[in-house]
Amino acid sequence: MNIDTQKQTLLARRTEITQHLVEVEDQLDDTPPADWEDRASERQGDEVLEALGNTEAAEIKQIDAALARIEAGTYGICAKCGDPISDERLTLLPAAPLCKNCMA
Ligand SMILES: [Zn+2]
Repeated sequence: MNIDTQKQTLLARRTEITQHLVEVEDQLDDTPPADWEDRASERQGDEVLEALGNTEAAEIKQIDAALARIEAGTYGICAKCGDPISDERLTLLPAAPLCKNCMA
């Protein structure tokens, strides 16, 4: 496991999410259309966007925690049981705080 690569991946993903969250905020701030039906569908769209925004905000927290673990030298170690997290899992989920067993 190359920690530098993981760090770059995490930082790139963080930038990507942050940019997307700004776009979501912009869309949420849009003035609602005057037509009632459009307004209803816009509201539904806003809920979807908000839910997505929450998911992404949670992912940023996970990424920040992972970056903090890299700094602390504990990256790749399960936060619950202390076992090493497999490279395979970290490649798939660079911000994973727990090993496969603890996540289940
Ligand atoms: Zn574990």
